[in-house]
Amino acid sequence: MPSLTFYGGVGEIGGNKILLEDGGTRIFLDFGMSFDLKGGFYEEFLQPRTNSGLRDLMELGIVPKIDGIYRADLLKIEGIESVIEEIGGDDPSLWISDVKSYDEMMKKEGKPFIHGVFLSHGHFDHFQCISFLDEKIPIYCSAITKALIGATDDLGKGGFENEFLSAKKRTLATLGGRATFPGEYTIGSEPRDREFRMLEAHQKIGSVEIRAFPVDHSVPGAMAFLIKTSDAKTIVYTGDLRFHGVSSDLTENFSASLTGLRPDALITEGTRIDEDTPDSESGVKDECIDLISKTKGLAMVGFAWKDITRYRTMREVAAETGRILVISPKLAYVINRLKGFEGLRLHKSEENVRVYLKRKDKMLYSKGDYVRSKYDAGFSADWEEKIDLTHFDEGIRAYDIKRDPSSYLLHLDFYDFNELIDLSPPQGSTYIAASSEPFNMEMELDEKRLKHWLRHFAINAPTHEPHYMHASGHASGPEIKKLIEDLNPKLVFPVHTKHPELFVVPQGTRVVIPEKGKKYTI
Ligand SMILES: [Zn+2]
Repeated sequence: MPSLTFYGGVGEIGGNKILLEDGGTRIFLDFGMSFDLKGGFYEEFLQPRTNSGLRDLMELGIVPKIDGIYRADLLKIEGIESVIEEIGGDDPSLWISDVKSYDEMMKKEGKPFIHGVFLSHGHFDHFQCISFLDEKIPIYCSAITKALIGATDDLGKGGFENEFLSAKKRTLATLGGRATFPGEYTIGSEPRDREFRMLEAHQKIGSVEIRAFPVDHSVPGAMAFLIKTSDAKTIVYTGDLRFHGVSSDLTENFSASLTGLRPDALITEGTRIDEDTPDSESGVKDECIDLISKTKGLAMVGFAWKDITRYRTMREVAAETGRILVISPKLAYVINRLKGFEGLRLHKSEENVRVYLKRKDKMLYSKGDYVRSKYDAGFSADWEEKIDLTHFDEGIRAYDIKRDPSSYLLHLDFYDFNELIDLSPPQGSTYIAASSEPFNMEMELDEKRLKHWLRHFAINAPTHEPHYMHASGHASGPEIKKLIEDLNPKLVFPVHTKHPELFVVPQGTRVVIPEKGKKYTI
């Protein structure tokens, strides 16, 4: 009989890691980072130690101890035993984890312990921990999700928590002849490509069949899954979804194709289970148009750089209010990567859209200032083949905006607020906070800082509060309730929610609030 074990997404928003076992077949549904757990121990200046590998994160319970799935180099660096002896370390547990790696299990069992990871979408709380998995474990996701993960690889900060398309295998090495201490031990790294496989509408992995359905969420490329096991049990996993975005027909189709299916189990997200009001993307558009048409100075809007729906909304807002939309280079980079996907209606260059050129490094707007952040100067993150200076040549600089602020709608996230110093927005400027993700503790702290900045630059006078224009990436309580009624499952497992107790189900359906690490037979 198949079973489900929930290693994350239990009583928390995000961190989904759900193990499905069917005989000898094992797959994970998502493998994301739990920001609640990690934020409980770490912050900006207190971070896990890269060369301690997974030991730190496992000790604190942020990453689950599971044998047979992780990279060997993050559990024990090859050849470390002799070094421990040489340096006189008498406690090997400082260097060696008691968790067995993928390779160790493979050697022991003669077959892989895990057959694949199915990613629902490209948000960190659903995929970040694949960085720790052995690179030979196939990652199944949509082509758009892979492109987004690739963009995160290129634009992100790196480190062992962010090795997605390739894993940098840590190896024992010695310092070279020019070092201060030649011949002493150090850690080197060898890149290894991670195996990604594109999701098909239908696929068979071991004894299970998996159907993938595109759904609407605040990143493009999101998927829900229907899994059929060897004994014809059916399990549905929603990933994250909503019914109010511009592509809500995808979610409707998913729900309609499974109506009356009566699956044995439905694993559903419940981020907004406690909220009754459905959001609306067109509502965000109308409110922004209303506010910006009354704005005399510069109009600014903050939203996530992977949120293509919100970008398209802002493109329309800019057109309707006669302004030029100036986007962050990160968003421009993602658009460039996704422009080939039909249905997203994205083009590298749009008449009414320009890219913001930040001052970087020596702050001189010199080409040499961009070698460490190439995507700020052009669409490429790699200058080995061809140097791309599109944003440098055609981008909008702070002084362009300062000269004529009322002509622009600027995409400006909180983390780019240093730009306000160069932009010096005039009286009557507006800041809109249009992020679609749920708030967490860290963001609350940022909110405080955000208000300090707005007050200092007299933005959004007289209150200096940001104008919140919100449409979430998640379905409301009544929408989730209706989805459950339509599918009429035997069991409902609420995940990705702080309020699993609020799930109301029809007669004949039972809610099982999962406990972390407990195995549920279906
Ligand atoms: Zn999400």
